[in-house]
Amino acid sequence: MEINILGRKICVRYVSDRELNQITKDTDCLGYFDNNTIFLSSSLSMEHSKRVLLHELAHAVMAITGLTNVIQNEQEEAICDAFESLLEVFRNEQISNFLKIPEE
Ligand SMILES: [Zn+2]
Repeated sequence: MEINILGRKICVRYVSDRELNQITKDTDCLGYFDNNTIFLSSSLSMEHSKRVLLHELAHAVMAITGLTNVIQNEQEEAICDAFESLLEVFRNEQISNFLKIPEE
């Protein structure tokens, strides 16, 4: 699928763990953002996949806004982990109803 993040078109692709490992050179990686594409491991459960997508969306937002240029990698990962945990917040019915934003 292709999504629009702050005006940049980003492709979201499910790939095998083997392909993901080749792209990232990291055997523990479950998702990856490379400026044009978010790669997600196809071996993840739907629940885990949503969390990893939120994490990678955070990387995308920070890259597009330029935030990645002014923070260190560990800080970026911590922010993305926090972003990922928003999935739990979105489970609240009042929050999810409030956030139901019509598509453009
Ligand atoms: Zn990350």
